[in-house]
Amino acid sequence: MNAEFPSAATGQAGVGEEFRPDLSNATVREDLAKTGRCAMVHLPTGRTCLRPLRHLGPCDFHGPEEAETVAATAQ
Ligand SMILES: [Zn+2]
Repeated sequence: MNAEFPSAATGQAGVGEEFRPDLSNATVREDLAKTGRCAMVHLPTGRTCLRPLRHLGPCDFHGPEEAETVAATAQ
């Protein structure tokens, strides 16, 4: 009786993709990031953090008008 036992035939697909809930709803505005700002955008509200890069504490999100002003004056 030849029973076949496939060894190492079943790969573990899907392992390695880490879900980051803290990054799933945020992105960075590159134009503001280049000015040394945190530039994290809160996508649900469209507001942007105007605090310095790698600031301490939580992000402080501002409206798009303020973000545009910072981006324009920092050049
Ligand atoms: Zn921030």
